[in-house]
Amino acid sequence: MLGDCHIHMILDGVYYRSAIDRHRQGPVDSLIRPILSCYQKLGISFLRDGGDAWGVCSRAKVLAEQMGIDYRQPGFPIYKAGHYGSFLGRAYETLADYRRLLHQVRQSRGDFVKLMISGIMDFTTFGRLSCPGLPSQEIMELIHIAHQEGFAVMVHANGDETISAALGAGVDSVEHGAYMTPETRSQLAESGAIWVPTLATVGNLLGSGRYPDQVLRAILESQLEAVAQVSALGGHIALGSDAGAWRVPHGQGTLDEYALLRQAMGPGLDRHLQASQALMASRFQVCEKP
Ligand SMILES: [Zn+2]
Repeated sequence: MLGDCHIHMILDGVYYRSAIDRHRQGPVDSLIRPILSCYQKLGISFLRDGGDAWGVCSRAKVLAEQMGIDYRQPGFPIYKAGHYGSFLGRAYETLADYRRLLHQVRQSRGDFVKLMISGIMDFTTFGRLSCPGLPSQEIMELIHIAHQEGFAVMVHANGDETISAALGAGVDSVEHGAYMTPETRSQLAESGAIWVPTLATVGNLLGSGRYPDQVLRAILESQLEAVAQVSALGGHIALGSDAGAWRVPHGQGTLDEYALLRQAMGPGLDRHLQASQALMASRFQVCEKP
């Protein structure tokens, strides 16, 4: 069985504030273990966590290893103060702060660095993001510094310019990746970066009544089209559901993501996803400092 290359152990798919509150005094093993068991029952033995600032992903790694699950985690996500990411990450203001955070990632046994470099989709308006991306120059510096420290880099990125800047800097994986132009989709395929389109975070909102279905459908359609194009161009696409996000429950979210990827990619899907996951597993681990 395939693994899930993007989950958040701390979140529950229902309401992020109360989910986080349950771990606020420290990671609660009795909440983490049942989720790991749920994945194990599905035959999933590889998980990559998008991180949280309360140490839940780091604790989950320890518990997962006891259960024979290969668990990769970034310590916590890193975001720029005043930009998107405050609900889950730790902020930097200057590059000196950023370097200090990378040191903390290492102390948290982080396997890689997770950067939040843009907002998320505004589900009421196609094409609009909740917050603009960081300047391209800054994105490049962040990625270069993390690479120099021996870390692979996962970016939460939406919006064409932001994604293109990250790809130009040699980012290792792009999460979400909404609103790429056809040129940037080609750049993605050529770059060798792994794309985790997290389709379930959009598809599972259909029919919820919170957002207009026609906007959700338009976003999902454009992502499915991009997935088809990137895979046709030989790019790497990995299965990652963003489980824990609203309406994406652990376990079921992985199955939902698989069903959506199948719509876009057709035959050869399993082979493709297995290869991307193997690449992910080899890439997303700390190297000795060069
Ligand atoms: Zn995420």
